Amino acid sequence: MRIKKGDQVLIIKGKDKKKKGKVARTFPKTDKILLEGLNLKKTHKRPRKEGEKGQVVEIAAPLRVASVMFVCPKCGQAARLGYVVKGESKNRVCKKCGVEV
Ligand SMILES: [Zn+2]
Repeated sequence: MRIKKGDQVLIIKGKDKKKKGKVARTFPKTDKILLEGLNLKKTHKRPRKEGEKGQVVEIAAPLRVASVMFVCPKCGQAARLGYVVKGESKNRVCKKCGVEV
């Protein structure tokens, strides 16, 4: 997976389409990512204690990495990522401006 934690991404599918967000977590095994405050799902919280009310809370749900595009911090465009190999390290590059990110 090319997206990393802390990356800025643009959602290209689903109800939050065209919104930008920051990656809070990545789940490489399932190819999913979690964005801060986006892709919210409503869940019903049951009362735990007596006298407490059940409530509807919104939590951020992970979404598929295929539903987002990386946003380059250098040129600000939604771009695909490539790799350049420099000796031992493999660095990501923005395919739009060619800068290592
Ligand atoms: Zn760029």
